[in-house]
Amino acid sequence: MSQYTMYQIIDKKKKSIPLTHEEIKWTIDQYMKNQIKDYQMSALLMAIFLNGMDSKETAGLTDAMLYSGKTLQFDDPTIIDKHSTGGIGDKASFILAPIAAACGVKVPMIAGRGLGFTGGTVDKIEAVKGFKTDLDLNQFQKLLTEKGMVLIGQTQEIAPADKRIYALRDVTATIDSIPLITASIMSKKLAEGANGIVMDIKVGSGAFMRTKTEAKKLAKSIISTAKRFDKKAVALLTNMDQPLGQAVGHSLELIECVEVLKQKGAKDITEISLNLAAHMVHLAGIETTFPKALKRAKMTLKDGSALAKFSELINNQGGNPSFINNYSLLPMAPCETPILANKTGYLKSFKNDQIGFMCTELGGGRKVKSDKIDFGVGFYFHKKLGDKIKKDEPIFTVYHHKNQTKTVEMIQEKMNQDICQISKSAPAKKMETIFDVVN
Ligand code: URA
Repeated sequence: MSQYTMYQIIDKKKKSIPLTHEEIKWTIDQYMKNQIKDYQMSALLMAIFLNGMDSKETAGLTDAMLYSGKTLQFDDPTIIDKHSTGGIGDKASFILAPIAAACGVKVPMIAGRGLGFTGGTVDKIEAVKGFKTDLDLNQFQKLLTEKGMVLIGQTQEIAPADKRIYALRDVTATIDSIPLITASIMSKKLAEGANGIVMDIKVGSGAFMRTKTEAKKLAKSIISTAKRFDKKAVALLTNMDQPLGQAVGHSLELIECVEVLKQKGAKDITEISLNLAAHMVHLAGIETTFPKALKRAKMTLKDGSALAKFSELINNQGGNPSFINNYSLLPMAPCETPILANKTGYLKSFKNDQIGFMCTELGGGRKVKSDKIDFGVGFYFHKKLGDKIKKDEPIFTVYHHKNQTKTVEMIQEKMNQDICQISKSAPAKKMETIFDVVN
């Protein structure tokens, strides 16, 4: 006879009674052995969503999910990872990883694919023909220790419980739960063997966390969980009320990354990438203070060492880095149509998630898991929030195919209706890029 029953465990959480470490471990083990059904796990997830988990339970869930698969361990304090909760136009990983690596940090990246309205790091880099993201853990370890940088997709070997539970959360409206997000992210990050983690928690209309208060709660939960596992962590709360940088879409975003590395990028994406990289340099102990780390990070853009590291990353994993100096080597949709402002004023707000959905509509994201991504479509923003705009001036340009004119018309119509608000008066305060740093 089993020690526990799933009925008792669900009932306990339903009554807001904290679960013990043993109960949580038993649940995850039995679920992975298919002894617990999806409908029972879904009921427990909803009870957790409604009643929460305290920090001890969250750490227990992280631990149980972490040990559902293989774990890597490196005795190297310079191995520091970064994780973003995901957003529109978020390509910071491709910029901060080479910056941090050029400063001496070892960067292990196990990244995800697009989710809902947000794009995925792994999908984006696959716009580079030949770049391999399906490396196994041995190859991952080898590249990390020998080259100091690696980027692969999620593997079955790392935290497989998260993969199964995430799929259930996705269809049971239980994604946006702080303990569940914490355990999901931290189980994967801890299994990778990083000694520290820098979190980029996105806040706004294009993020899972819509308010700063919610985002701060998530930051605190992640940091306290990291500390329980003896790992260093810092979290930045960053603005996701508009696309990050100017490009949305796979090839367009890669080009923007190269432009940032060549010191020609937009201010917000440059600032976020430099700050995240500098926190990695600081956590790695390479510099003793954050200001010194930031200065060092900036230097890698000036002296070209970060751009050289980016080229190495592409080369190490089978891609051809020639596109760095010849953007036409990346797949690009043939037509460009500007989306025009319907009045004069100041750009006040975007429904940022809708911008992500519009990109999916063009083929730049998946509606179902089996959809193939079109790397060449997307948007290039000429204006950012707070900017002055005249009637009929382009807000952004759509990159699309000839047979997509109907979709482009629909995008123009949606922009005029409610996706973009233009106000008569200038905004009272400047758009912030980084709201807060929690550690
Ligand atoms: N990213 C993850 O990896 N897991 C979550 O639950 C949410 C965002």
